Amino acid sequence: MTGIIGAMQSEIELIAEYMKKSNSYQAIEISGYLFHKGKIGENEVTAVVCGIGKVCAAAITQLLIDRFDADCIVNTGVAGGIGDGLEVGDIVVSEDAVQYDFDLTAIGYAQGYMPCLNQGKDNFSRFVADTKLTDDYLRSANKCLKNGKAVKGRILSGDRFVADNSLKNYLKSTFAGTAVEMEGAAIAQVCYLNKKPFTLVRAISDLANEEAETSYDTFAEEASHTSASVIIDMFESGRKTEN
Ligand code: SAH
Repeated sequence: MTGIIGAMQSEIELIAEYMKKSNSYQAIEISGYLFHKGKIGENEVTAVVCGIGKVCAAAITQLLIDRFDADCIVNTGVAGGIGDGLEVGDIVVSEDAVQYDFDLTAIGYAQGYMPCLNQGKDNFSRFVADTKLTDDYLRSANKCLKNGKAVKGRILSGDRFVADNSLKNYLKSTFAGTAVEMEGAAIAQVCYLNKKPFTLVRAISDLANEEAETSYDTFAEEASHTSASVIIDMFESGRKTEN
């Protein structure tokens, strides 16, 4: 069973609507979260809105694994584009994910270094996405996009909406990020701890600069739906989703 996580209603609604058409659909409430359990194509999936930020994302990932027996996780949603040449409406699928706001610098570690990963204290830590899942979703993204492009890249997560060119440039130069958002690397950490494969699919809603608020308000809903349509295509096209 694949767990599908979106931070916001707009990111999950197309998927939930699609699932409601199938006979096996069930809505299950746990801890105030509504889980949509059912099928897309021949695949068993459970989709849920987790709320904004890393803590919400981590909590729901563990619930999906413990209570729904999720054997892989995909995160769908929107993000700020920070990679060169990215535009609103483009899609980034994760190669890896970094919690850029994890900060042990005062005791001698690099910004973004996380002890749980044991990757060396002089650099930020990376949670590596499942390469097959990433390539499969990238293929669906290329199929679904009418305009724009789909790329693989590094997704940076932190509990902050980035709307500032200097922060954007810092994230780009320090972490070589492609997109910035607020949940993906927390999902990745919980998947890492549980030894479950994951990938993150994010459509660009804004460019994380001074115009980001307006861009987000204008394009987030459409970008949410673009990302959800990639998830649906992936399952409909019948590619095997488990390792
Ligand atoms: N609309 C919500 C708040 C959304 S916060 C409300 O009003 O309650 C932004 C969401 O989009 C987060 O889930 C985050 O993952 C993603 N996101 C899009 N652009 C972003 C950016 N520039 N910086 C950080 N997160 C961004």
